[in-house]
Amino acid sequence: MQISIPDPKLAQSLQKELERQRQTLEMIPSENFVSPAVLNALGSVGTNKYSEGYPGQRYYGGNQFIDEIENLARERAKKLFSVDHVNVQPYSGSPANQAAIFAVANPGETIMGMHLFYGGHLTHGWNVNFSARYYKSVQYTTKKDGWLNYEQIESLAKKHRPKVIFCGATAYPRLYDYPLLAKIAHSVDAYFIADIAHEAGLIAAKIIPSPVGHADIITTTTHKTLRGPRGAMIMCNGKESHPLKPLSENENPRKNLPTLIDRAVFPGLQGGPHNHTTAAIAMALEEALKPEFKTYAEQILKNAKALAQNLIDEGLELVTGGTDNHLMLVKLTNLGIGGKQAETVLNEVGITANKNTIPFDERKPYDPSGIRLGTPALTSRGFKEDEMKIIGKLIAKILKNHESETIKQEIKKSVKELTGKYPLYPELEYN
Ligand SMILES: *Cc1c(COP(=O)(O)O)cnc(C)c1O
Repeated sequence: MQISIPDPKLAQSLQKELERQRQTLEMIPSENFVSPAVLNALGSVGTNKYSEGYPGQRYYGGNQFIDEIENLARERAKKLFSVDHVNVQPYSGSPANQAAIFAVANPGETIMGMHLFYGGHLTHGWNVNFSARYYKSVQYTTKKDGWLNYEQIESLAKKHRPKVIFCGATAYPRLYDYPLLAKIAHSVDAYFIADIAHEAGLIAAKIIPSPVGHADIITTTTHKTLRGPRGAMIMCNGKESHPLKPLSENENPRKNLPTLIDRAVFPGLQGGPHNHTTAAIAMALEEALKPEFKTYAEQILKNAKALAQNLIDEGLELVTGGTDNHLMLVKLTNLGIGGKQAETVLNEVGITANKNTIPFDERKPYDPSGIRLGTPALTSRGFKEDEMKIIGKLIAKILKNHESETIKQEIKKSVKELTGKYPLYPELEYN
């Protein structure tokens, strides 16, 4: 399909970005390729409409069809994740976390989350983020071996009695013990927020455990493994939401989380929702409800396991020794290359990945000791275990021979062959 953009500079940049996506191996675990249907919904007339409020309760007229769209997204998300209530309006994952905290904690109260350098997210209490400037932040780490340290989480919770305990990360290759985290949080009367931004698609497909029924609030992005547009959702169980009415003092906040969350998103933090994004979320959720999506999610896991095993066979070291989800962290310490250079070298041969700190990293975050790799985007293109074996070998070879120009050229060629085998948006062109 030809998309007309009558602005040569912009059209060229968009076309070049499309070609870059086509010609590289996209291995950043937080990225994905949406379907043409999701792209179409995202480029829809929903963007023209103001609709502050919620379906049936708007501050603008003319929202009868926007209400239908938002209700489609909400109902599909409720079905997909088996929850009572979903807010689909947060602009992205970070504002969703901000709203989730804002819903249950007053400024100055304590929140607790995983330290950024151990895999956690900025919005879980990193020192320069709002979550540590407006709230008091306590951060937990992993054990030396990279696995979550539940004893430490429990003792920090007992000591600081936070109002909120977060779990969820951007670089943790293992699963979470949601029942245990819920038990710890509730033993100190904290709200347990599970941020499933990375794993949402795997949870939706029911191939890894869900925090539903354990976490009080669940936040997620919609653009990672869930394969929707850039956006976010906040989910919870509880009584029906009354977003225009503040809770009275005799209402139990724990039973009224839907109202607290809706009010935190709007009018607490945001104005008008991005209705084109909501439409694209509705489309992506419809896709995620289909049996094909389960097959896709299973393949993400199979591919991650195959890639991890191959990297190990090639002598590379992985944090925690492997993966239970869609991502892995390669420890570069014994390869004589830092994370920054590894990212650059991989980029030069057409493999897109990002440098990452590893637990107890001795190098600086700007040039850390790890590389993060993930399989969701490649799996969307159709790559399977056989290609993962080839890619694992290519990655190991380039990291071990990062100074050899001939090896770089050879790998560049292999990457071209691989990407050529799985066309991306073959009909699309911006001009
Ligand atoms: C990606 C991510 C977010 C934030 O999402 P943005 O859309 O980039 O703001 C929040 N939490 C976790 C764990 C993430 O991985």
